[in-house]
Amino acid sequence: MRYLQYTSVETGFTEGETHMSDIQSILDATYEKYKDVTDGTVASYIPELAKADPNWFGIVAVTTDGDVYGVGDVSQGFTIQSTSKPFTYGLALEDNGRERVLEKVAVEPVGKQFNAIVLDEKTGRPPNPMMNAGALVIASMIEGATLTEKLNRILAMFQRYSGRKMYFDGIVFTSERQTSFRNRAMGNLLRSTGAIELNVEEVLDLYIQQCAVVATTTDLAMMAATFANGGVHPLTGERALQAKYVRDVLSVMHSCGMYDSSGEWAYRVGIPAKSGVSGAIFGVLPNKMGIAVFSPPLDERGHSVRGVKVFEELSERLCLHIFQQC
Ligand code: GLU
Repeated sequence: MRYLQYTSVETGFTEGETHMSDIQSILDATYEKYKDVTDGTVASYIPELAKADPNWFGIVAVTTDGDVYGVGDVSQGFTIQSTSKPFTYGLALEDNGRERVLEKVAVEPVGKQFNAIVLDEKTGRPPNPMMNAGALVIASMIEGATLTEKLNRILAMFQRYSGRKMYFDGIVFTSERQTSFRNRAMGNLLRSTGAIELNVEEVLDLYIQQCAVVATTTDLAMMAATFANGGVHPLTGERALQAKYVRDVLSVMHSCGMYDSSGEWAYRVGIPAKSGVSGAIFGVLPNKMGIAVFSPPLDERGHSVRGVKVFEELSERLCLHIFQQC
């Protein structure tokens, strides 16, 4: 992150000191402050997730220049769960165009839980792509002749964002697949309204596979930094998503990414973000940085307890709220 510094009327603005060291020390202090918090419960409705160690805790920030700052269990792998949704939404936008996607999935926050069954009464559209209903329809819109081809396209997409090979955890996938009663019911309902036009089991498989993609906190922060950098990976220089769709994805994350606490999050934290039930949260500061936090115990709304605290703290201390003048 570079700051312009005002020097004088004669010389105007010069490149100021970088505040990189500040970022690392603030991350370290925030980690220390919250590492002993024991509130929250590790998700268990997907049986394999219950095996997560509640002590895992990692924080990483990656700037759009590609500088990486991290503390804690930054290399611990986890399944990304719902933090996958903004990325597949972006891919569906590229595959289908904005209008076609909007016809199928709206962009309205509804203040409901992640797995709420709320569909527009007239159109049958799910309210937004960050909730499960919307994400299922989005999964059905990923191009590919076969399920394998669609999955490969999704994995290749994640690789463009993270800069390294990505794969999914077959055990977590099977565990969720066997217990996906609610998502399966929702898929069938969406098939009955015509929102999903394909085989529900295949759509469900693809959705559960995208949720079972494995990443570390560093990967997720890198992926967030790619969004922050207008869709281009800060280190590889590869484009992961067209810039016009980055705007769409971040808008939806800002209004809907934190489910029924999206409004309060926008108010208190002010960073477009997405959470997942494995305990990950990532946030995107356009033109500045991506931040990811991983800590499995969740609050009653399904967000990482430490993750929420860390974002509130970083927003304040690094002056990251998008409407805050610093
Ligand atoms: N795979 C999870 C589900 O569909 C994701 C939920 C989440 O991370 O919020 O239930």
